[in-house]
Amino acid sequence: MTHDVLLLNADYSPVRVVDWRRAVSLLLDEKVQLVAGYEGRQIRSPSATLPWPAVVTLRQYARHRGKVCFSRQNVLARDGWACQYCGESPRSRSGRPLPSLLTMDHVVPRARSEGGQVVLPWSGRPVPVTSWENIVTACRPCNQRKAAKLPEEAKMVLRTRPRRPTPWEGVRLLFSRVAIPEEWKDYLPEAAA
Ligand SMILES: [Zn+2]
Repeated sequence: MTHDVLLLNADYSPVRVVDWRRAVSLLLDEKVQLVAGYEGRQIRSPSATLPWPAVVTLRQYARHRGKVCFSRQNVLARDGWACQYCGESPRSRSGRPLPSLLTMDHVVPRARSEGGQVVLPWSGRPVPVTSWENIVTACRPCNQRKAAKLPEEAKMVLRTRPRRPTPWEGVRLLFSRVAIPEEWKDYLPEAAA
């Protein structure tokens, strides 16, 4: 059972998932309003009993930064926790992804970088060596096999061309790591739920 809370912007668009303690403190500070509580669950303190928040909305509109932050977690989520060369997606018996068995591969190897930049073979454009467009998820065997070569030199084919997620895809990434509780579903875009 989740204790997480879906935080919505003042226009009811999803912002992020927050810990229930954070949500309760935002409620007590009157920064957010309760939209939906978890059915049949309550938070009890010596002085009050509150419905357990499932969805809350900001009272004041917060501007989205619009950019999805570049991180190992987000690259893994973008790539569906699957090696972008062989498609292998290590999972536990219950189907949970096992990120510890996956690595980050520089498509154009670090050794080919100049001044921290590499030139993408498909566009001829220079990008930072460690960035959305030059990093993909790879299983260990593929990463070892590829080593400091370009994919074609290693006779490997990328399944997708890596890119920065759009803000819309970013919303989906936000929710790709959590099981979506029933109570949230009315407030999420179709694609995320
Ligand atoms: Zn692989």
